[in-house]
Amino acid sequence: MKAALMYGPNDIRVEEVARPQCPGDGLILKIMSVGLCGSDIRNLTTDSRKGNYPFIYGHEIVGFVDEIGPSETRYQVGDRLFLFPGTYCMECDECVSGHSENCSDTAVAKLAGTGGFAQYVAVSGEKIRRGGIYEIPDDVSFDAASLGEPLTSVFACLENVKVGYPDTLVIIGAGPIGCFMSQLAKIRGAQKVIMIDINESRLDMAKQFGVDITVNSSDTDPIEAIRKLTGGKGADKVISATPVNATQTQSIHMVKKGGLVVFFGGVPKGSMTELDCNLIHYNNIWIKGHFGASYSQSKRAFQLAISPSFPTEKFVTHVLPLDQITEGIQLTRTGEAIKVVLHPWD
Ligand SMILES: [Zn+2]
Ligand SMILES: [Zn+2]
Repeated sequence: MKAALMYGPNDIRVEEVARPQCPGDGLILKIMSVGLCGSDIRNLTTDSRKGNYPFIYGHEIVGFVDEIGPSETRYQVGDRLFLFPGTYCMECDECVSGHSENCSDTAVAKLAGTGGFAQYVAVSGEKIRRGGIYEIPDDVSFDAASLGEPLTSVFACLENVKVGYPDTLVIIGAGPIGCFMSQLAKIRGAQKVIMIDINESRLDMAKQFGVDITVNSSDTDPIEAIRKLTGGKGADKVISATPVNATQTQSIHMVKKGGLVVFFGGVPKGSMTELDCNLIHYNNIWIKGHFGASYSQSKRAFQLAISPSFPTEKFVTHVLPLDQITEGIQLTRTGEAIKVVLHPWD
């Protein structure tokens, strides 16, 4: 089968490799669509596996069942499936407390997490038993369903920090995640969404996803701009959705007294962010980190992704054959694309 193998930072080669063996109690999924995620790009362009290559990334996986093992009973050949990359044990303290996104059973949490940049992927019986596999209705495209994964953490974040009426929400970072956030914030009742980015074409595209006001921070001081736009008060909530420490530093200056700041985007490993702690102290600012989603949130986010109330298809700006994965990375990095989806069979 064809697969895009990572041999090192920025060294991705599309090659023929052996098709995975079907587990006796599992299945083989024929991958029809796989999203290119910001975290994939970070992993593919840095030494993410510390020399341990080749490796196949790709975790926004959808397709249909091509083969089932002799003892697999839940799914049948031809079923259309979405593989959520996280799986939860539902028995550890974290899962029982309602926060399965923090599941401490790491072996379970990582079942079927990757391997999507290929024509086939094997799904183990344990993954099937643990859940996190959702059936895609016939009238929903594979491309739309693949967005169920990136939408999941956005869904969880906005739910956890209760974005809703009548919030003024600032989102820093007009990438696909920022655009999802804006669209969903509007559905949840936010009154004003202000999007900040340094890339004008990204900001332009973001306007179709519920953004009320855009601020280009390459030519405007974003802190000053948010003050003006909020009558000097600051926003109710600010989400830093970039991989940059500097936007975390800025975010606490954009939020109102008693407001909430979310650090959503991962920053370079080991890097430190400078924060004005007296401002946090005297202004009673809440800072929350966000990563992942609980089992319940992943299910509901997938339902949203495939429902008509969310314009999922609109976020897919580029569909490319798997061979053009490097081009997909470029398109995402330059801001020309919002969401790139790869087709392993084109
Ligand atoms: Zn993803
Ligand atoms: Zn657990």
